[in-house]
Amino acid sequence: MVSHMRYFDNAATTQVLPEVADAIFPYFCQHYGNPSSIHDLGFDAADAIRKARTSVAKGLNCYPSEITFTSGGTESDNLALLGVVGKRGRDRIVTTAIEHSAILETCAEACRRGHRASIVPVDRDGFVDIPALDDMMGDDVSVLSVMSANNVIGTEQDLREMSRIAHKHGALFHTDAVQGFTKMDIDVRRDGIDMLSISGHKVHAPKGTGALFVRSGIEISPIIYGGGQERGLRSSTENVPGIVGLGKATEIAMASMEEDIRRMRVLRDRIIDSVLEIDGAALNGPRDRRLCNNTHFRFEGVKGTDLVLKLNKAGFATSTASACSAGDMEPSHVLSAIGLNAEQALSSLRVTISQLNTGEDVDALLEALPVAIAACRNQ
Ligand SMILES: *Cc1c(COP(=O)(O)O)cnc(C)c1O
Repeated sequence: MVSHMRYFDNAATTQVLPEVADAIFPYFCQHYGNPSSIHDLGFDAADAIRKARTSVAKGLNCYPSEITFTSGGTESDNLALLGVVGKRGRDRIVTTAIEHSAILETCAEACRRGHRASIVPVDRDGFVDIPALDDMMGDDVSVLSVMSANNVIGTEQDLREMSRIAHKHGALFHTDAVQGFTKMDIDVRRDGIDMLSISGHKVHAPKGTGALFVRSGIEISPIIYGGGQERGLRSSTENVPGIVGLGKATEIAMASMEEDIRRMRVLRDRIIDSVLEIDGAALNGPRDRRLCNNTHFRFEGVKGTDLVLKLNKAGFATSTASACSAGDMEPSHVLSAIGLNAEQALSSLRVTISQLNTGEDVDALLEALPVAIAACRNQ
């Protein structure tokens, strides 16, 4: 059953590439040493981490010493915000209304700890309201956190503009690049990024692995205490297989990134053009400056969860708004933030591709979708 599913839920997670799985495998039963041990098994593990750190650093154009491996995008986001808020006499976080819960819930926790947070609105396509952001900034702001690309509607923010605004007010700029990494042209030096979060399982590496870039010179405290691994910023014995996988997946992605982006854009646009011909269909999120692998629609008179389940029966894996909010009947906060009412928000479908999707996959989906929509409307 699962083996012949056509997979269109790549914003939720991605398949581990076979080459990545092959690279990881020896680190379970052969090179299983603790990277801190001073024998060959330990040296092998430490070398593998060094190599992976270099690959990830190359992918972001930073120094390997600026990369900290974590347990995923969520931990990277927690570390970035809780690690700096309150320092330099600045105790406020500014972020956007469409961030992932890993950012919004971390802001809520920062507030419970006595810090403050401000949430900047976005326009109907999900772009940050720049005048509102300018007004919200001030010399009490520790960090501005704006996601590179949205996980629901695919909006790509102007990272250079965001960092410029943050720096004008002496604040740090953090970006949750979990969706954007390998699918957007990101260069932390060129773009003025101070901290950046990535997650392995969104880029064809395993779940439970991620990284945080922290520009050297930034004062940041750990949120996990213990043996002092990762230069004291992230204690716990390193997830060597996961780290190896993240490094390998990054290397593979970077080798063909431009071409993969171009190919995904073509498939994305084919999906959008075709779906918009369906009666009562509308696109959520922008047409331009949209993540190369994201499409998101709403359909009049359709319940999104019904549609996803119908498509599942037909052999297609899709989603409504995001994996985390799918299943609840609450409209996605992202869709509310771009001005959709509850009914519109609950009538949505997210179709997200990867470089593994073929034109044939897309053709099959585009054939099945109108049938599934009609079935939802008639029931
Ligand atoms: C998936 C996701 C996360 C969380 O990453 P995990 O590795 O699952 O913790 C954070 N931010 C965004 C934008 C995401 O899409």
